[in-house]
Amino acid sequence: MAHFNFPLDVTGYSLVRFSRKQQADGDSYRRQVAAAETFCREEQIPLDMSLHEADIRKLGMSAFTGRHVVKGPIRKFLAGIDNGIVKKGKSLLLVSEWNRLTRQISSDALKLTLELMERGIGIIDLQDRAYYTLDRYNADVGLQLSLQLKISMAHQYSKNIQHNLKAAWEGKREAIVAGRGKPTKASPAWLTVREDGTWNAVERPREPTQNDPRTSELWAIPVDDRTRNAFRAIERIKADRFLRLGKHAIATRLNTIDPLPAFRGKNGWHPSAVEKLVRNEALRGVSQSYIKVEIRGDTKREKVGGPQIGFYPRVLSDDDWYRMQWPSDERQARGRRTECTLNNLFAELFKCSCGAGLVRDNKGSKWGAYLVCSKSRRGLCEHKTRHDLAALEAEMLMLLSLFDVSRLVEKANPHADRIAGLEAEIASKQKIIDEMAEGFAGNAPPAFFKRMQTMQAEVDAAKGRLTELKRNAKIVEANHSQDSHAEFCAMVTAMANLEGDELYRVRKKLDLEMHRLIDGGEAVGDELLIRLRGLPDMLQVELVVAQARFIELRLVVPSNPLWAENEHGDFFAITREQIFENPKVRAMLFENDDPTGAFEAFINRERQQLA
Ligand SMILES: [Zn+2]
Repeated sequence: MAHFNFPLDVTGYSLVRFSRKQQADGDSYRRQVAAAETFCREEQIPLDMSLHEADIRKLGMSAFTGRHVVKGPIRKFLAGIDNGIVKKGKSLLLVSEWNRLTRQISSDALKLTLELMERGIGIIDLQDRAYYTLDRYNADVGLQLSLQLKISMAHQYSKNIQHNLKAAWEGKREAIVAGRGKPTKASPAWLTVREDGTWNAVERPREPTQNDPRTSELWAIPVDDRTRNAFRAIERIKADRFLRLGKHAIATRLNTIDPLPAFRGKNGWHPSAVEKLVRNEALRGVSQSYIKVEIRGDTKREKVGGPQIGFYPRVLSDDDWYRMQWPSDERQARGRRTECTLNNLFAELFKCSCGAGLVRDNKGSKWGAYLVCSKSRRGLCEHKTRHDLAALEAEMLMLLSLFDVSRLVEKANPHADRIAGLEAEIASKQKIIDEMAEGFAGNAPPAFFKRMQTMQAEVDAAKGRLTELKRNAKIVEANHSQDSHAEFCAMVTAMANLEGDELYRVRKKLDLEMHRLIDGGEAVGDELLIRLRGLPDMLQVELVVAQARFIELRLVVPSNPLWAENEHGDFFAITREQIFENPKVRAMLFENDDPTGAFEAFINRERQQLA
């Protein structure tokens, strides 16, 4: 090892020591310190770390007056030169990455380097062990060119400074997760930070469940009243979102029914706060970090890295979180409908034969509200039939309680929400991976690759879960619709004895169920033909209602040649009398007094014939 002819009593100062800590991701930092230590050991010179620990205010301002320098990482070193702690002619600045010298443009960095040399400071490049002093620099064109080239290249690298910040951020998060470091003001509203830097919620691993086998995640458990209230609010918002309530309705309910304090301020819940909370991914433990980036004087907020999964203790499962989001196609109008007082369970379902919708009205009626053609109200349609709303509702609830039509109509997938949630999760993560990959275009730091691999593994795991979920869905389907029918019947029965919020919630569920089962309907004269959601090309169930009284149930098979030749024409009809009023007919018609089973058996026979 060739030794330099250093002056006696020379001291080495590691530049990395002056860099902002958070900018140094663990590996790079250790590597650079190790390089400085190795160099000093080999050259048998002391490595001075004390300046790094010094209080900058006591060192005083530097005579290197450029703003760029004052802000740079080397500020302490410069102040040390000024006040004599760093001795001229006896100090070496050990540089392993030139971009750390200054984050400013390359001409400034070169100027600073020359100025240091002019002040008698030697500079060592730890990478190639080049030694720069003013004398050596002036005497050697090769040294001049190499220095300029290094700084220029470092400048190119500095343009990608975000890479470093991203890596640094990874380190910070890991430190916080590992219990070191401190969560900062970035904590979400329901978590407050205590003196010791922990969150005011206990974190514990959760038992794996069938649908979520991950046990590594920490779940939040509130430990004080404020947090407990916050978590209760989150639970209520979740439940309301599952009922597809909008932000206005949710805020009103939080403020008026068994009120809970808002996270911020004393004026109660505001719809925008509800929406912000619902959309907040921190609920499922995810954090997105931002940095302020200055571009030609403008400060912009930019994402740093991808979302950090598992940063915060979890409050909601991914499935629940995705399920309570607003679908991108949930239209305003529909949102408004869900926030009405639920006095019409058939809102936006039926049309007059003129094409206009049937709407609720109660003017000029002694008996209460009714459905009527919206155009006829304005004298633009001849069809003035009023369909008694209360009677229609009672009739439909009774009918749908008796028949488990959900077994006949398009199968409602019990896992649909979770499947949709998983699919959304996969899509969003894949998008992040793609965007990150595009953003880095081949020169990504190792931390990024690690992150991307982790995320890709998560996507793959989610895909695996999705496949399994879809398969389970098929198996569970039959049983579940039975359950949901039982639930439906229970709700109908219970409704009579409920009031206030309980009644509201039950009616809301019934409203969702009505809109799930009913595809639409058309009013012709006194009759209302209600179409249930059918199996495409296989079966359509229609209910005929006249003057709000159920008359006939029809099984319509649209394009089945076998049906066309059938004595019943293209539909199989069962009358009200057969169903309700003649037990003997009913017993004959429906094996085991199971009308739904009879339908199913009937349909299956037809399917077998077709096959
Ligand atoms: Zn009309």
